[in-house]
Amino acid sequence: MAAKATWLIERSLVLEAALKLVEKGLVLGKAGNVSQRLKQPSGPDLLVITPTSRYYDSLAPEDMPVVDLDSRVVDGVLAPSSELKLHIAIYKAREDVGAVVHTHSIHASALAVAHLGIPAVLEEEVALLGGGINVAEYGASGSDELANNAVDALRDNDGVILANHGAVGVGRTLRGALDAAELIEKAAEVYLLARTTGSVKLLSVQSVAAAREVFRHSKRSREA
Ligand SMILES: [Zn+2]
Repeated sequence: MAAKATWLIERSLVLEAALKLVEKGLVLGKAGNVSQRLKQPSGPDLLVITPTSRYYDSLAPEDMPVVDLDSRVVDGVLAPSSELKLHIAIYKAREDVGAVVHTHSIHASALAVAHLGIPAVLEEEVALLGGGINVAEYGASGSDELANNAVDALRDNDGVILANHGAVGVGRTLRGALDAAELIEKAAEVYLLARTTGSVKLLSVQSVAAAREVFRHSKRSREA
């Protein structure tokens, strides 16, 4: 008899989040990927991640592979997302991150192609994502280079744009990471529209500092 599948609640939540990415138009078809960190009572962290090259509406919770931070599948049959290295690099670099969402949303991708970040133009962008959004240097899909460049450009913010590729939102929870991915897309659209007027006014240094304090405070209260 096959062993009983583990982490089924977490696997179903990751699948649900992946379905939301498609519903919300943040990815097309089999693109994008979602993961959640799994804290074991004893033993190293694991993660559950969407599988590679599958339509999310054709999957069941147990189809989400459970993987360790050395990329070994510990439960599941399907191969993990081709961006597994990106997810693992973020979890290793950022202990505060509990979930990662990678999208190919249109406006963030347009900025990714232009190698343009999003400066601090909206208070909610700074309060929820930590500041303006950087563009990571280019790395091919699935490569160590993409993973390392993304971590470097993410710093301690909750969003980053991947050059010529898409975007990544992170959060303490799946809901938080999804919110981050949606807000990156909104801020990207607003910034691109504002640029067409020829007049983009950045938030003042004081406003950025105040919104950044909101970001820091919400992180601290989530850790408490
Ligand atoms: Zn991608």
